[in-house]
Amino acid sequence: MGRAPGEVRLLLATKTLDAAPIREAIVAGGTLIGENRVQELQAKAQGLSDLPHETHLIGPLQRNKAKAAVQHADCIETVADLKIAQRIDRLAGDQGKRLDVFIQVNTSGEETKSGCAPTEAGRLAAAVAALEHLRLRGFMTIGLNSPDQVAVGLSFARLREIRDAVIVAGAPGTAEATELSMGMSGDFELAIAEGATIVRVGSAVFGPRDYPAAA
Ligand SMILES: *Cc1c(COP(=O)(O)O)cnc(C)c1O
Repeated sequence: MGRAPGEVRLLLATKTLDAAPIREAIVAGGTLIGENRVQELQAKAQGLSDLPHETHLIGPLQRNKAKAAVQHADCIETVADLKIAQRIDRLAGDQGKRLDVFIQVNTSGEETKSGCAPTEAGRLAAAVAALEHLRLRGFMTIGLNSPDQVAVGLSFARLREIRDAVIVAGAPGTAEATELSMGMSGDFELAIAEGATIVRVGSAVFGPRDYPAAA
């Protein structure tokens, strides 16, 4: 994971795609893959196992899928409450691994969006960072759904401010929580301007999908 400060990585959002186009994308150099559903992630894992890549879960994590998620994902970006964090911590311990996680924050305040409230994020980050089998690597958000670019940029800026405050507060285990996963096909330029370290792009790479956007 060694990289220069300010570098932005491209995560390919591959929901609904078969393994074949994902294989092509990995061969072309896209080694960071994001899946929304644990079943899909699990189903494609074997077909991609011979190619070097890293898979992040970027969709909401359900309790009953936690075991498979811990088994098949390299990172879970959507930890949004302490209960699920404790559950995946226990499962990671059972599986003898330490798992990278991000905290998802609902920076836009839209009811349809997952994530913890911005006011909860600092406390949750400290609690998650203290769990033995998890490694808190950063924060994830889905930007405000709006044509108002300034307002969208503010939702990304809020995630950066949360990350910076957590690092400054300095709770044990938070020093590595530097990543900001934010920005999709429609708003990644705004996210990069606000400090994104990972942008999650699907349709701009693979073409339009007849499937609802992120939640
Ligand atoms: C689908 C999805 C993306 C990518 O969306 P595009 O608009 O296709 O770039 C990014 N993040 C999440 C959480 C998604 O579900």
